[in-house]
Amino acid sequence: MSMLDKKKIKENLEAERDVLFEELRGIGKLNPETDEWEATPEEIDFPESDQNDMADRFEDFEARSSMLRTLAPRLNNILKAIKGLNRDSFGTCDVCKKDIEQARLNANPAARTCKKHLEG
Ligand SMILES: [Zn+2]
Repeated sequence: MSMLDKKKIKENLEAERDVLFEELRGIGKLNPETDEWEATPEEIDFPESDQNDMADRFEDFEARSSMLRTLAPRLNNILKAIKGLNRDSFGTCDVCKKDIEQARLNANPAARTCKKHLEG
């Protein structure tokens, strides 16, 4: 893998990381103890609320939680990939040591094997 390709992948990953991070910060917070993202309820801007508002907020919280479950693993994967970029073996298959297909790296930058040696 050429240095130029690597640089480009890194830039893409960092851009994607920033976008995901912003999205996650809008719906939750990172728990420093567990290192996991937790959904936060929407800001309450009025003190009293009836049952409907409560139900709405609960649904909203559920929606945030499920979005978080989608986004958080993606962010973790990207962080892992950015870390992996520093490995000398980045972009080469752990099994056959050949270059990992570009398309596969684009789809999953943290990939450590080529398509042929894909696990499962
Ligand atoms: Zn391979």
